[in-house]
This record gives sequence, structure tokens and C-alpha cells, in this order.
Amino acid sequence: MASWKKVMKKQILPLLPLRGLTVFPYMILHFDVGREKSIKALEEAMVNNQLIFLVAQKDSSIKEPNENDIYKVGTISKIKQLLKLPGDTVRVLVEGLNRAELSEIKQTKPFFMSEVVEKTLFEPVYEKYELEAIIRKMHSTFEEFYKLSNKIAPDAVVSIMSIEDPGQLADIIVANAGFKQDEIQLILEEFDPKIRLEKLIVIMSREIEILKVEKSISSRVKEQIEKNQKEYYLREQLKAIQKELGEKDGVLAEVEEYRQKIAKAKMPEDVEEKSLKEVERLLKMGSGSAEGSVIRNYLDWILDLPWNKTTEERFDLEHAESILEKDHYGLEKVKERILEYLAVRQLDNKISGPILCLVGPPGVGKTSIAKSIAEALNRNYVRMSLGGVKDEADIRGHRKTYVGAMPGRIITALKQAGSKNALILLDEVDKMSSDFRGDPASAMLEVLDSEQNYAFRDHYLEVPFDFSKIMFLTTANNLYTIPAPLLDRMEVIHISGYTEEEKVKIAEKYLLPKQLKKHGLRKRNLKMNEKAIRDIINYYTREAGVRNLEREIANVCRKVAKLIVSQKQKSVTVSANSIEKYLGIKRYRYDKVDGKDEIGIVTGLAWTPVGGDTLSIEVNVMDGNGKVELTGHLGDVMKESAKAAISYIRSRTEYFNIDKDFHKNLDIHIHVPEGAIPKDGPSAGITIATALISALSGMSVKKNVAMTGEITLRGRVLPIGGLKEKVLAAYRAGIKTVIVPLDNQKDIDEIPDNVKDKINFVLAENMDAVLKTAINYKRKYKRIEKVETKKENEEHVITNLPGDVERSLPTIRQ
Ligand code: ADP
Repeated sequence: MASWKKVMKKQILPLLPLRGLTVFPYMILHFDVGREKSIKALEEAMVNNQLIFLVAQKDSSIKEPNENDIYKVGTISKIKQLLKLPGDTVRVLVEGLNRAELSEIKQTKPFFMSEVVEKTLFEPVYEKYELEAIIRKMHSTFEEFYKLSNKIAPDAVVSIMSIEDPGQLADIIVANAGFKQDEIQLILEEFDPKIRLEKLIVIMSREIEILKVEKSISSRVKEQIEKNQKEYYLREQLKAIQKELGEKDGVLAEVEEYRQKIAKAKMPEDVEEKSLKEVERLLKMGSGSAEGSVIRNYLDWILDLPWNKTTEERFDLEHAESILEKDHYGLEKVKERILEYLAVRQLDNKISGPILCLVGPPGVGKTSIAKSIAEALNRNYVRMSLGGVKDEADIRGHRKTYVGAMPGRIITALKQAGSKNALILLDEVDKMSSDFRGDPASAMLEVLDSEQNYAFRDHYLEVPFDFSKIMFLTTANNLYTIPAPLLDRMEVIHISGYTEEEKVKIAEKYLLPKQLKKHGLRKRNLKMNEKAIRDIINYYTREAGVRNLEREIANVCRKVAKLIVSQKQKSVTVSANSIEKYLGIKRYRYDKVDGKDEIGIVTGLAWTPVGGDTLSIEVNVMDGNGKVELTGHLGDVMKESAKAAISYIRSRTEYFNIDKDFHKNLDIHIHVPEGAIPKDGPSAGITIATALISALSGMSVKKNVAMTGEITLRGRVLPIGGLKEKVLAAYRAGIKTVIVPLDNQKDIDEIPDNVKDKINFVLAENMDAVLKTAINYKRKYKRIEKVETKKENEEHVITNLPGDVERSLPTIRQ
């Protein structure tokens, strides 16, 4: 046990209550003083021995503390310096000297004057090692404390560790450790250094524990924060991933949507299976991949097809007839055929319809009647042009593996149609051609073949589509360029060009009302008389159909509309006299074949895509050495016809009373005017032959006779095509007699009655009949008479000629 020697010393000193501050012996520190009472205490100290008793206030917030508000133990300190600061504040530098206990407050005003008892302990006597042990313990505790807390400056640590005096050690440590006020006070109040150290060790150990806990908490907090931060980052990453995943979600939703759509589309089983497989692939693919968009595109196509959509077909004959009549004049054969088809369907609606091929020149209403047919049957209508299609892939599509692959035109048309029993018009089948990229016609064959088209496979779709319910209609300008197998599958309906009369009727009944409506005009606004329409037909259009006629009528309507608006006219009458005002000067004129009969000039008839035309063939013979010249842009077939005609004539020179060596002595020039226009075909054969015979024999040819027909070497006349167009052209040109091959007799039925009435048809089986009709016999007989005088044995041949013709070639007059 330590024993202390106590020295008690009483002193009367001014007292300064400290707020939140405790001063220890050996400590030098400064603080600011603002309270008046305290300043006064300082002043009092200064006038005496500069000593002052500094004692802490229990509650630092009290402004005017009384005796009870201050602790009992404080430090007698020496004022080392006073500094007046602005605003009644004094900065004071003090040095703690010794602990003292307040025994009495002597005065409270104007400052506290206290009586303190200074307790100084001398030479404490400790048991051997006891103090040493406590000091060590204090050191180690302090070390631990220092490590845990970061409140003590490293410099202070060094000086603290070197202090050997236990009391001082405790004081310094407590002054620097930043303990709470009451703990600090506790240490200050302990006069025994050993006990003071012990108390401090306890406080400090407790503090260490707290610090440890604090540290563990803070490390936990840190960990937590780190964890939070980590989580934050992870979450952010996750978010980024989720964004990806989110899109995956998008894909999921998309895939789900596709699945539902597929379920709704009611596709055939295999198609559904294939589509679902593609959907699975899309799911695996994820978003964004190029392959993904290919699949999407594919699925969209599949889903857009009318796998199970149909319109209700109407088999009502009367209704159909009224629709067909409503928009189209004539076209009887087509209308009739459609009504027949409807009748058959009414009896058995499983029978698949025919594939009609409407063949005729442009503008005769092929396309527009197809549209009316669709309306009559209540089928959706789509037009698909085959003009210029060269590539099989155009029809059948490209395989999906190609970049930018698409289904073919058939599937595209089907999508457009939106129902699987639509009417698809395949326009211009004759304009399809094949090249190295494959033959589109073979793909078309598959589409049109009712045995095969229930499972038409497009390369892109890869799944079959049933086309058997689709009604196909085709159009063509001529049959010759349609591949034979394709033509074979179609039922051809010829629509020939219209006569002037028909055109007038179409214009009056259909085209004019249609154009009036299109131009916002009323019937009373525009009156166009028949003569005006005829003039438009004859002088502003040259066509087999009525497309340009319609265009010109539209032209007139526009001009009239302008007049009505700008000049406030109520009604405009367009007559033949005023037509030039609207359409400009006349564009065409029809060569009326008139004038004198001539030698070596014959009127032939030609077929062109825009209708028939007259074609005059001229032959000149001159002395020479047998050269044959053909000019006028003639094709090979036509040239061969000319050669055949010459051969034929050579074989019958005597019969025609022609120099039998004409092919050696004469040069022949055959010319067909309008030389810039290419001409070809065999049907000018008899025309060339007649012109040659006329030129060689010197017999003239009747001007009002026109002819068409192929010639053989033996002078037979073979049938030709496009008779109606040719006859209409002859009629327009004012021809009275037309020589037609006998085998074309059946075609004469198709020629409108009003034309038939005005034309005299001569059916020719051979050249003799042609010549009999075309050549002026008078002159011929003269020649023959000459021959008769020379060669008697030939008489029967010549005299027999007219009789032969009469017998074998009846002249038809209708
Ligand atoms: P195509 O397909 O034969 O070339 P379009 O069908 O395009 O001819 O016909 C051209 C225009 O002539 C259309 O406006 C059509 O209505 C009209 N048309 C043709 N023929 C007739 C007709 N017989 N009756 C009424 N309008 C017709």
C-alpha cells in the first residue's frame, strides 16, 4: 500500500468557471474568456499573484453558474498572458500548476472568490514493482487505445510514452485522450497518482472496448457500405445485363406474340410446325442479330398470308350478269364464259374453274373485265404483271439464305389479295421470257396446273400454299409468244379490236360517263355529239382498243372543266367542228384506198398489236439479170414468202402469159411502203404474188380489193390469224372486197354485222381465185387472147380459169 504525505495549503484565489474545458497541472493552454464575471476574476488575479483557480462547470451551457454548478476540484493556474481581442473577449494563456479542492466560495460578485485547498502529495511509497506494473499497464493500454483511436497526434504519443511520473502520465493522457467531461473530471479529482492511473486504465479499457466495438461496427459498416457499393455495382451490372435480359424479355414477348398469331392464323399443320420452329430459333437467337431479323421477316410473311381467309363466293347468275353488263360493252364471249362457269359452280362448287386467257390487243378491256369478274364473283382482286419477268425467282422467290430474299410475285399477290379464293389476274403472260436465270414459265405452269397447285412451293416460304381455290385469269396480246405447255393449260378467249361503231357505243355509254365523273362534271356540263366521238376515234387515235380514246375523252373533260371554272360556263358542247379546239390538230388520217387501178400495186392487210392495218405492196420490174430486191424493212418470213411467190410464178409463166425467163432477164424490186416499220409474217404471200403477177403480166389490180393469205409453192392459199382486225382495217380504208383464205371462213362469223354487210368476202383456196377477183381480167384476156393465137392447146386452161374459180370459190356476200 502506498502511503502519502499530504501537504495541505489553503489559498484565496479568484475562480474562473470553465465551460467544456478542464485544465490539468503541467498543461499550458489558452482559451478565450467572454463572460464579464470571468474577465473580472482574471483582472483580479492579474493584480495579485497572477494565480487563478480554474474549475470546470458541470453543465457548460449554463451562462451564470452558481456554486453548485461547478465541480469541487480544479487547478490552480498561472496566467501567463492576457490578450484583449475585439469585442470584449480576452484570450488568456495559462499554465496548470496544481490540483486544488474548492472549500468555500468567498464571494460571488463581481467575480467568484474562492478558498481552495491545495493538496500536494510527496514521495508516495509504493510496494515494489506495483507502480511500475501500473505504469506499464497504462502504457500498453494507452498504446492499444492510441492504435484504436486516431484522436492523439503521433508527436504527443512519443512525449507521453517518455513520462515516468505516474500522476503526470495520467494527467497528460487524459488531457489528450478526448474523454468525456465527467471522466476527465474524475481523473482530475483523484489526488493519488496510482489510483488515478488505475482509474484511467479502467476508463481507457472501457473506452478501448467501446472503440473496438466501434471499430468492428465501423468495419461492419464499411463492409456493409462496401457490400452495398459492391451490390450497387453488381446491380448496375445486373441492370446492364437486365437491359440485355430486358430485351430478351422483349424477345420473349415477341415470341409469345408470334406464337399467339400462329395459333390464330389456322395454318395447315406442317406450316404451323415450321413457323413454330422458326419462332424457337428466334428465341435462341436473341435480339439484335441479323439472323433474328431474317426470321422475323419470314414469320411476318407467313403470318400475312391468307391461310384460312376466304370471301364468300357468289354464284348468283343474274347478279353477276348485271355487274358484267354495268361496266362493259360487248365482250360477249367472256361474259358468257363467266356465266357458264358460275352455273357449273352452282351445281358443284368443288369443280375448279378454268384458267381463262383473254387474248387481244391493248385497251380492249381485258384488265377491266377481269376486275368486274372478281366483283361479280365476290372474290378479292389482284393484278400481277408478268411483263418483263425473266427470272424464275421472280415467280417463285429467292431462298431465305440470300440477303434481302423475298417471296416471289405469286405469294406477294396472294398477300395483297388477303384471301385464299381471290381472283389473280396474270397480266401479259405473253411478255414473259426466259434467260439464263431459269424459266419463269415453268414456275407459272406449276401455279396454273390444278393438279399441282394445291401445294405450290415458294423458295422463300419453303412451305406449300394451296392455290387451288384461287381463280386465275390471264391476259395476252398474242398467243404466239406464250410457251406451248402454258397455253395448253388455258382456255383462250379472243377479244378482238373494236369497230368504229363499237367504239362509239363504248365511248357514249361507258367512257364518257366515267370520265365526266372522274372530272367532277355533270352530264349537262359537257355534251359531245356522235360525230365528235367518231372524229376522236378516227383522227386522234389509232388503236384496236379504246384506251387512247378514253385518254382523249379525259383530255376533253379537263379542258371543259377549265372552261366551266374559269369562264363560268354552264354547259359546253363539243362537236366535230370544235374538236380541234380541245385536242389540237388531227393526228391521224385514214388512207382511204381510192384512185385508179394500178399495175404492180396491191393492197394487203396486216395485223399489228394495235389492230389491223392496210399495207400496200408495190412491185417494179425492169430489164436486168434476175436480181430480186426486197425493201421496206421486211422480216425473213416475208422475204421467204416473196421467194415462194416468185417460184410459183415461174412454174406458171405460160399460164399467166409471162416471159418464162423473166427471172433471168428482169430485175424485180418488191417494196412495202412505210419502210421504217418492220414487217414480217407469211400473210402477205398472196399479196406479193398478185403484185408480182400484175407487174410481170401488165394486168392492173383492182383498187378496192384487199387480201390476206399465205401462199405455197403450188399456189395454195393458207389461213392466217387476226382476220377480224384486218377486215376492220379494210373496212376503215373503204375497201369493198376482201380476199380471205378459205380456211378462215369460220372467223368471218366474228366480224360485226355492220362490217360484214358492207364488205364482199371472197374465200380463196388457191391463187387462181385470188387473181380472178383482184386482177382486171379485161386486160388479162387480151393477153391471153394473144396467147391463144399462139398456142391453141392452152386455150382450155385459160378459158377454164373463171369457171374453176366460180366452182371452187363461192363468193360470199353478207
Ligand atoms: P386491256 O387490259 O385490254 O389492255 P383495259 O382493261 O386496260 O384494256 O381497258 C382500257 C380502258 O378501256 C378501261 O378504262 C376500260 O374500262 C375501257 N374499256 C375497254 N373495253 C371496254 C368495253 N367493252 N366496255 C367499256 N369499257 C371498256
